Amino acid sequence: MKRVLLVGGGHAHAWVLRAGVPGEVTLVTPYPHHVYSGMLPGFVAGHYKLDEIRIDVATLAARAGVKLVLGSVAALDAKRRIARLDDGLELPYDRASLDVGSQAAAPDYALAAKPFEHFMEQWLEAKDRVRTAAVVGGGAAGVEMAMAVAHRANARVTLYSDRPMFRAGLARRIARQLARNGVDLRSVAFAESMRGEYDLVIWTAGAAALPWLRESGLATDERGFVLVDDRLRSVSHPEVYAAGDCATLRDAPHPKSGVFAVRHAPVLAANLAGAQQRYVPQRRTLALIGCGERFAIADWGGVSWEGAWAWRWKDRIDRRWVERFTL
Ligand SMILES: Cc1cc2nc3c(=O)[nH]c(=O)nc-3n(C[C@H](O)[C@H](O)[C@H](O)COP(=O)(O)OP(=O)(O)OC[C@H]3O[C@@H](n4cnc5c(N)ncnc54)[C@H](O)[C@@H]3O)c2cc1C
Repeated sequence: MKRVLLVGGGHAHAWVLRAGVPGEVTLVTPYPHHVYSGMLPGFVAGHYKLDEIRIDVATLAARAGVKLVLGSVAALDAKRRIARLDDGLELPYDRASLDVGSQAAAPDYALAAKPFEHFMEQWLEAKDRVRTAAVVGGGAAGVEMAMAVAHRANARVTLYSDRPMFRAGLARRIARQLARNGVDLRSVAFAESMRGEYDLVIWTAGAAALPWLRESGLATDERGFVLVDDRLRSVSHPEVYAAGDCATLRDAPHPKSGVFAVRHAPVLAANLAGAQQRYVPQRRTLALIGCGERFAIADWGGVSWEGAWAWRWKDRIDRRWVERFTL
């Protein structure tokens, strides 16, 4: 029987566990739960309880007859087909699938948004004492996080964004919502010398590849993410699949976001089960950006709207995703 190694309990692997995979399957992931990032700012804002935003990967694995190893892969030798964990355990495989996401490139004085479990623990401990906070990174994650912190902690929040992240119309709409939430937007890079001004610095900027991917022998793009074909297979080692943030489609690269990670999921599950499905990235994506209170901005194909109705829409979509995995 083929030894199948699933590395990481992200969006795509949660789906794979639900769908089932033939073979002798092992999942390696550091935590028994997967936190759904789309709902994390809502958790920070106080709209969700912990159990509403996470998927019980350990139980999904048990139901699927998949062996669960709680740990982190520290190295992968694609030539020898062996993964080594941080405690030294070596796991050989015939087929592997990587869904390990990306990491926030945060300096050590800042609280990185990832791993989400660590972030949530630290946030719960800090939220009642924080009076001033900086959020670094002006993409959707940073914008949502800044407004969520301002809403929940009643803190003075400054958002640092050193480059434009949205087209002009959407950027203006976001700027208005930031101002309405009392978030001070500064279009400059955050410098270490500023850290003394804040009780908490939250880092959401820069999705970086896990360093061992580049060293694995798998073909990677210039940022160190695994290059895959349209079946989500490594272009250099076809027995290795990759999905979500850790993968870059060689012929159709697209942004790294949960929206795409979710779309990879059914294709990965089918192909691990022996199908030859192709993944074609959607040309337009719907972005729903939470604005602190139960209010959101919706953006689709270059047009945007806002309102409490957009929050309800986002809430419905997000809850439906998590509930798919409720046992
Ligand atoms: C605050 C925040 C809010 C966001 N909100 C949105 C949003 O609203 N919409 C959206 O589209 N995107 C959002 N994103 C982006 C989104 O989080 C990512 O694009 C998405 O999580 C990628 O999914 P994934 O399955 O590839 O990886 P992840 O969801 O990061 O899952 C990776 C899994 O791999 C595990 N893992 C990590 N390293 C190892 C290792 N060495 N060995 C084994 N397992 C490992 C992790 O524990 C985790 O279980 C947000 C990001 C942040 C930071």
